[in-house]
Formats: sequence, C-alpha cells, structure tokens
Amino acid sequence: MAHINQNFLKLPGGYLFPEIGRRVRAFSAQNPPMPLIRLGIGDVTQPLAPAVVDAMVKASKEMGVKETFRGYCEETCYAYDFLRFAIQDAYRERGVAIADDEIFVSDGAKSDCGNIGDIFSADNVVAVCDPVYPVYVDTNAMAGRAGDHDGEKWDSLIYLPCTAENGFFPDLPTNKVPDLIYICSPNNPTGTAATKEQLKVWVDYANAHGSIILFDSAYEAFISEEGVPHSIFEVEGAKTCAIEFRSFSKSAGFTGTRCAYTVIPKALEREGASLNALWNRRQGTKFNGVPYVIQRAAEAALSPEGRVQTKAAINYYLNNAKVIREGLTAAGLTVYGGVNAPYLWVKTPDSIPSWDFFDLLLKKACVVTTPGAGFGPSGEGYIRVTAFGDAEATKEAVRRIASIL
Ligand SMILES: *Cc1c(COP(=O)(O)O)cnc(C)c1O
Repeated sequence: MAHINQNFLKLPGGYLFPEIGRRVRAFSAQNPPMPLIRLGIGDVTQPLAPAVVDAMVKASKEMGVKETFRGYCEETCYAYDFLRFAIQDAYRERGVAIADDEIFVSDGAKSDCGNIGDIFSADNVVAVCDPVYPVYVDTNAMAGRAGDHDGEKWDSLIYLPCTAENGFFPDLPTNKVPDLIYICSPNNPTGTAATKEQLKVWVDYANAHGSIILFDSAYEAFISEEGVPHSIFEVEGAKTCAIEFRSFSKSAGFTGTRCAYTVIPKALEREGASLNALWNRRQGTKFNGVPYVIQRAAEAALSPEGRVQTKAAINYYLNNAKVIREGLTAAGLTVYGGVNAPYLWVKTPDSIPSWDFFDLLLKKACVVTTPGAGFGPSGEGYIRVTAFGDAEATKEAVRRIASIL
C-alpha cells in the first residue's frame, strides 16, 4: 500500500478564503441591497501594458518560424540573456551587483518560496512573521518542519509578532534561534515596508547565527518613499545570508502570465555547500523553464517604455490605496500601510474581532474585505483591504464604509 505524506493531514485546510467565499455566497443569496464591492482579493485588475502585449505577439510569431523557434530553455538558470540583463540592470540602478548565474527565472514567487524548502533539511527551525502570507507556513508544514497545529498555531514554528507596537516589523527572537527566517517587505498583509536599518538587524543576526533569510520582495515596485530598500541586497552583509524572491505578478500585472525570479548569491554557503548550486540542481531536476514568449514579455516590462506603462498601473493602485487610507482615517478608523504597498491594514473599531467586522462590512456596506485573523493570531483585531480594485468602486466602498460607522 502506498503511504501518503501524513503532514498534509495536519493542515487546517484552506480556512481563510473558502470561509470568506462561503459567507459571501450565503449573503449574496439573500439579495443584498447593493452590488458587492470586492476589496478582499490579492489579484491585479489592470490589463497588461501595451509594450508587454506587443512583445508577446512578436515572440509568438517567432515561435512559428523554423529559424527563430525555441525549444527547452537551456540557458544558465533558465534565464535568456535578454531577461537576465534587464533584471541585472534593474538591480544595478539600485546599486546592487548581481552576477549572471545568480538569477533563476521561474513561473512564480509562490512556487519558489514554496519549493526552496527542498534544499533545506527537515529539521531546520523556521521563523515566520505573524500575520503572514500563508504559503511560507503551509509549505513548511507539508515538509514536516512545522510540527502539529493546535487550532491556532504550529508548535514547531517560531511566530514573530508584527504589531502596531513594533511598527509591524518583527523583533529578534529571544528564545530559540531560527535557521530559516521568512521576511516579506513590502508586506502582505500589513502593507508596511521595512527600512534598511530594520533589515540590517536581521542580516547581522542571520550572519552571526548561520541562519538564512528568505526575503520576499514581490511588492517592491509599490515602494513610493525614498530610502526604503527595494532589495535585501541593498543591505550590507545580505549576500552571505539571504535569498530574494521577486515576481512580475504585482509589478507588471503578470498574475495570469507567470514570470518571477529568485536571486541566490554565490557567496551563500552552508556546511560547505553552495545554496546556489543546490537550487540549480533542484531546478534542473524538477523544473523546465519559463516560456520564451513570457520571458520576452517580462523583458518588455523592464524596458523604458514598459516601465512607464507598468508604473501607470501601479500608480492607479497606489491612488486607490490613498483613497482608502484617507477615507477610512477620516471616518475614524486607524489605518496602516498603503504607502509602499497595495494593502491597507485596518484596525477594527472598539477592537471587535476581525470576523465580526468583516461580517458587518459585508452585510451593512456590501464590501468584501479579508479578516486579519486569517493571516495569523496577531492579525486578530484587523482587516486587510486591497487597493487592487476599480478606482470608482473603491471610492464607493470607502463612502459606504464611512456611512455605516
Ligand atoms: C502575490 C504574491 C507573490 C507573487 O506570487 P507569484 O507566484 O509570483 O504570482 C509572492 N509573495 C507574496 C507575499 C504575494 O502576495
């Protein structure tokens, strides 16, 4: 008889979004007085930039001609030179030098964040921020690194509370030393971004203890304030302790197009082994690259024309974020984030539980949000509101929320 991976049975089983879906469907069935506005989703809504579409059309045509047809991408780290150079240039503009064979192109930061665990032993101690992007937690649970779930927490994970008191950035752990540390900045779900000084504390800690920082900067393109680092490699010492995940999903609207990349410095070694070499071996065995057409699309997103166009979409979302932040603040709520990220982290009034405030907004304002408690225990007392919606609908949602408070 085949035996299953028992760790899967320990997973509490997609609680957050299915439960939101269930409540929204039940409410919709009762003929709500107004059309629902969905500010719960973490997906983009603006179309691809024209420069990106043109590049895809052109590359698709090349695939239909014998001389320019491409099969497997056999380039170093699955990155065609044109895309690798474009990514290197983007880093160089921020003063970061990344070598040719340090950039691994993939189909998503979600897959890379999840798969990176393959190169680490099952007995590593893992630290996650709380609240957290659930992928980091669930993939470690599947690998047996999280222990057992007690209904609220996994008993082998170190939870690093991110609260209003610490500016939603984790303090160093005081008991156990984690081997793997997930940091997401700008953060999903809190919408806040770490400063260089904040990151430096963790880089120094990781270097001192031999830990690895798994740094997710999927939202770096939303950073609007000067001086906020876009990459962990802007912090001195990071190349000996960090892996960085980036994606075109949120920066260029590629959630349905699929292209991302992971940077693993060659200076990053543990137990005498190069993590870059291990990941290369892992990808070489379990992955076969991102389509030529899509890599051309990603290159176009980084071209001067593409940058202007994708920046317009980002500014559209950031303007929604401003509308939400200002509108809800004026309505008396305490609102965090939304300046360097497309997410607003909103304190519930009178500290009512997140699911109760979620229900209130759904039933009285017909606005769908995400209860903070779904992202971890420290998310209780908050809701996440996304800026990825339509501008007019976002304004209407803010008016409705203000009117019921
Ligand atoms: C959306 C998102 C990503 C991007 O994932 P892709 O697989 O590249 O679409 C990565 N990390 C976080 C925290 C996200 O919210």
